[in-house]
Amino acid sequence: MSAACVLLQEAYGMALFRPTVMRERLTDLTPADVSALGVDTLLLDVDNTLALHHAPTPLPGIAPWLEAMQAQGIRLFIVSNARGSRVAPFAESVGLPYFSLCQKPLPFGVNRAVRRLGVPKRRVLLCGDQLFTDMLAGRLAGVKTLLVNPARPEEKWHFRLRRRLEQPLLRRYRRKEKHS
Ligand SMILES: [Mg+2]
Repeated sequence: MSAACVLLQEAYGMALFRPTVMRERLTDLTPADVSALGVDTLLLDVDNTLALHHAPTPLPGIAPWLEAMQAQGIRLFIVSNARGSRVAPFAESVGLPYFSLCQKPLPFGVNRAVRRLGVPKRRVLLCGDQLFTDMLAGRLAGVKTLLVNPARPEEKWHFRLRRRLEQPLLRRYRRKEKHS
């Protein structure tokens, strides 16, 4: 493969998966960050972003964080790839509207949520823990994205593989963020 080809591929990859902003945890995002990004609507992933996989309750600090965001007039909506039987009771427990089976990285679930909320895409931030599902879905849908560190490393092999493939890109994004 020629050097130009490699460069092009890298540039493409960077653009495609690169989050607009990165934080350690979701609760590190402040209402001031949200307004600095020019958004007023957060689309939220569930597993490893709001809660541990299969956990019926949110991660520590998430419930008050959700309340603080809503108190600032920020709209919240859950967009999860998980089934309704997983997402519905969780969404109900935190009092948020949701779509399950969103099929991220495809943009349709995100687009549907944006339409339901009736907000312009430039005012939407999709928050999640995976480059190849959440960040790509956000990019394809044309909304801004926040990447958080997964709350706990997954054990299933396909997750571990994806996490491995994320590593070189993540290193680059982190380096870039430090220098920007
Ligand atoms: Mg997730």
